[in-house]
Amino acid sequence: MKVVICDPVDDSVNDYFENSDKFTLVEAFELPELENEISDASFLIIRSGTTVTRELMEKGEQLLGVVRAGVGLDNVDLEAAEELGVEIQNTPEASTNAVAELVVAHILAIFRTLPRADAAMKQGEWIKKQVAGCEIMNKTVGLVGYGRIGQRTGELLAGFGAKIIAYDEYVDDNVIKENGAQPVDLESIITDSDIISLHVPLTAETKDLFSTPEFKKMKESAIIVNCSRGGIINEDALNEALSNGDIYGAGLDTYTEEPPGELAVLSNSKLVATPHLGATTSEAQARIARLIIDKIEAMA
Ligand code: NAD
Repeated sequence: MKVVICDPVDDSVNDYFENSDKFTLVEAFELPELENEISDASFLIIRSGTTVTRELMEKGEQLLGVVRAGVGLDNVDLEAAEELGVEIQNTPEASTNAVAELVVAHILAIFRTLPRADAAMKQGEWIKKQVAGCEIMNKTVGLVGYGRIGQRTGELLAGFGAKIIAYDEYVDDNVIKENGAQPVDLESIITDSDIISLHVPLTAETKDLFSTPEFKKMKESAIIVNCSRGGIINEDALNEALSNGDIYGAGLDTYTEEPPGELAVLSNSKLVATPHLGATTSEAQARIARLIIDKIEAMA
């Protein structure tokens, strides 16, 4: 059975399929190469870089499944896959802890002004008095979305002594309570939180969920972190809210456009920005690799 790796993944995936009697492996990182390989391929392994269209799947006469290393399936025509009987899998569980730890890193970077302190040290400046920070302990953390990553983020921040409140449109209040958080509505998250962290998918409902009206209602001392998907925070409104002092700080790992290019909020000193590296840890990549192998073995 032919496995085509369409985007780079952990070497252990290549090793596994190369050493298997059941599978043959080819790499096809560019579309023309993939179009050459698709006719007798049984499985495709993709990340965000490859778009799996109806046209491509129609050419894959033996195609059984596609595994997306990571979460988002917006680059796969799911309707066509269903019609053509191609099974689509992803590996959302692999990056849960990595993303949750990045949220904590963003919060600590903002609260302890790490980027500014580090930049000053490198310039030979000792700015101890200008970078007084604050602590997570006893703060109220508002989680928007209480799925895998929201829950893990809550667990980690509870360990710092924070109070966790959570809003999730589709998770039962009892599940939130059983995990030690307090279920609340979105309004309470906005007005009561010292730290807001977003863990929802980007949908028509969540697009621009945080924009000027929400920032105006937040505490002036509050911060917001988005390690979920770009577009859930309106970036121009965020820039304005940071500049006006409507909120204290923000952390972004994801952007409406990626890479974001010229984006005004990126030069705001109250923002800590990372380049969508929520899942970019060696442990998460190893977990993704293991899941890709297991999922292909299960479909074969
Ligand atoms: P999940 O599906 O386990 O949880 C998402 C939760 O959002 C669900 O509980 C769902 O009920 C809730 N939800 C959906 N729509 C909602 C709405 N309108 N209002 C309130 N709640 C709503 O997903 P997850 O694995 O926890 O991932 C969360 C987010 O993190 C996703 O957007 C995912 O794409 C993103 N993510 C980012 C990175 C990164 O590198 N930064 C890596 C992995 C995942």
